[in-house]
Amino acid sequence: MTTDLAKFAKDNGVKYFMISFTDLFGAQRAKLVPTRAIAGMQEDGAGFAGFATYLDLTPAHPDMLAVPDPSSVIQLPWKPEIAWVAGNCVMEDQDVAQAPRNVLRRLIAEAASEGMHVKTGVEAEFFLLSPEGTQIADPLDTAGKPCYDQQTMMRSYEVIREISDYMLDLGWGAYQNDHEDANGQWEMNWDFNDALTMADQHSFFKFMTKTVAEKHGMRATFMPKPIEGLTGNGCHAHISVWDAPGKDAKVNVFAAEKSDSPTGELGLSEQGKHFLGGIMKHASALAAITNPTVNSYKRINAPRTMSGATWAPNSVTWTGNNRTHMVRVPGPGRFELRLPDGAANPYLLQAVIIAAGLSGVRSKAEPGKRHDIDMYAEGHKVKGAPKLPLNMLDALRAYDRDKELKAMMGEEFSAAFLKMKHEEWNRFVSHFTSWERENTIDI
Ligand SMILES: [Mg+2]
Repeated sequence: MTTDLAKFAKDNGVKYFMISFTDLFGAQRAKLVPTRAIAGMQEDGAGFAGFATYLDLTPAHPDMLAVPDPSSVIQLPWKPEIAWVAGNCVMEDQDVAQAPRNVLRRLIAEAASEGMHVKTGVEAEFFLLSPEGTQIADPLDTAGKPCYDQQTMMRSYEVIREISDYMLDLGWGAYQNDHEDANGQWEMNWDFNDALTMADQHSFFKFMTKTVAEKHGMRATFMPKPIEGLTGNGCHAHISVWDAPGKDAKVNVFAAEKSDSPTGELGLSEQGKHFLGGIMKHASALAAITNPTVNSYKRINAPRTMSGATWAPNSVTWTGNNRTHMVRVPGPGRFELRLPDGAANPYLLQAVIIAAGLSGVRSKAEPGKRHDIDMYAEGHKVKGAPKLPLNMLDALRAYDRDKELKAMMGEEFSAAFLKMKHEEWNRFVSHFTSWERENTIDI
């Protein structure tokens, strides 16, 4: 593990470091720092004007410093003279409580103090579009059912291969790539890892995918529903909890011998059941984090897409190996949360999973009834399962009402997040749309 960035630069021919942090909206912001200054920056951090960091700071706040975490450093495979490094946000020697990477680090430490080490894998789906972002990049990608389309795969081979090669170079354990369910949509998978490592990799993956797409004259987007009528970009998370972090992990504490209960039959331990119970209990509130934009609610609660299925949930339900529910337990020792979308902040996504899961374990929350049905065909038969929020405002209100989740995520974070997202909602509703004119003009 890298501990000294100046030495890393010398050993690897790095000329510049990109010291990066992620704001409350999930955007990555960075300073490009020449190697001669990196030792000082590693000590003191790179300075940013607080108001421009989108962390709910004012122009009157002192400088915010992003102190690089050397264990996160990644040399850009396509530009080896630059290395990306995630920064931890600090102000006047205190962690900035609402900074997403700090929220996650605090929750990881809390879970670790109770012997729980969360590992996740993410499926960060994306579209390859034309540079202006309105058309699918490959004009021949028009099939009604394009999932796993082999011919389309070959036409986009050069861009997908380049990203896959870089993940192989980085040692992430890349293992498969496919054309997804919408025209222009792709998914690339790599190995699961510790929550913080996964959040850093997820952030870097988005940066890398967008950069490589630009190089090929395309635009990669993780927007939840970039094309009306087509399947949206999910960011499913596969979750397990282990006895130790990193390579020391030996025992999956979510795994158990099969037993005679709805979760036990699927090989989930008691702890796994309660963690899942926490996710189910807080689902409507955590949607504000996992589905954080106006556009997110065009993916969940969507009408049937052109391919025949949205692959996104509408209700808070769980089941075994069946993709029509919010949570799928595909095999012993892990479960898949299918709610998150491509707009989820990589750090807050991991943080809210730990926050909800940990609170479930502490309160011995039950996940409720297992529904082994096709939710798209028979969802109306399920009585009493909460519906997911219908829009971003509903989600923000659900989050605001969930005092337990707000406290777990941190009061300062929750207040800053709610304030900035309510401002975003207000900007959206004050925007005049053509729909209003078309539907109201002759009233
Ligand atoms: Mg997928």
